[in-house]
Amino acid sequence: MKKPKLRELGEAIKAVIVGPYTSKFPAEMPEVPDRYRGKPNFDENECVGCGTCALVCPAKAITMEESAQTKLRRMVCRYDMCIFCGTCEVNCITEKGITLSHEFELSALDRKDMQEEVEKEVLLCEACDEIIGAVDHIKWVARRLGPRAFGNPLLMLTSLQSLGAADQMPRIDKEQVALKRGDRIRILCPKCRQETALVV
Ligand code: SF4
Ligand code: SF4
Repeated sequence: MKKPKLRELGEAIKAVIVGPYTSKFPAEMPEVPDRYRGKPNFDENECVGCGTCALVCPAKAITMEESAQTKLRRMVCRYDMCIFCGTCEVNCITEKGITLSHEFELSALDRKDMQEEVEKEVLLCEACDEIIGAVDHIKWVARRLGPRAFGNPLLMLTSLQSLGAADQMPRIDKEQVALKRGDRIRILCPKCRQETALVV
């Protein structure tokens, strides 16, 4: 039998005294550095459903689906496709809508279980039922603009309605009645608002 080299013998003695270098994961969860980028999590209260994170995600791990029938916008983050780059967090308009946690143990038996989602109500045009945007997003913009939001009928009416200071108007049936200039002070999509401006 070959005699162990002195260096190896030293290492063996050190390992007996200090203990192993490896962690005991999964029996014990190791601590990760503060800036570790783990699973992205939506915060339903901070996310306003603007869709920016879906636009900037380089891995297309975040998608946005919306329906005028259900009046809902659904943001889905598939963390089985995520590359943990942090671009969504950095570009989130509220800075807290999506954040990368320290979670790294993300294994699952079914990919369908590997997703995070958040749902937001959408605002529809009162004339054509097109989706204008997420209600929380519009309210967030109005809050950021403060009094200046009153220069925009959409922002003004959405804010006033959410405060209970303005009633919801009945829908305009464009098939029956043409849009009038007076309809400018209504919740309209850009296309319908343009029509009110073109009325002579
Ligand atoms: S961390 Fe990067 S890849 Fe993952 S969801 Fe965010 S933007 Fe997409
Ligand atoms: S608020 Fe942030 S997390 Fe929510 S949709 Fe916009 S960018 Fe994404």
